[in-house]
Amino acid sequence: MTTTTPIPPITDPDPSALTCPGGLVGPCSGCQRPTHKYGSGGSPLCKWCMAPVMEKWGPSVRFVSTRG
Ligand SMILES: [Zn+2]
Repeated sequence: MTTTTPIPPITDPDPSALTCPGGLVGPCSGCQRPTHKYGSGGSPLCKWCMAPVMEKWGPSVRFVSTRG
């Protein structure tokens, strides 16, 4: 028994794209679906492309340092 969440079609934007200003939305670097890509809290990958990366690197992975 597996409970893998099905990945929606790339025509569906990442949920983060729906909750951030439209100007911060850009295509996912992996699957091209609209995602919150720019600005604070943005990510070049949508949550579905990010999931395997998170498994590999852990939840502390950061693409952009916000320190300082
Ligand atoms: Zn993606």
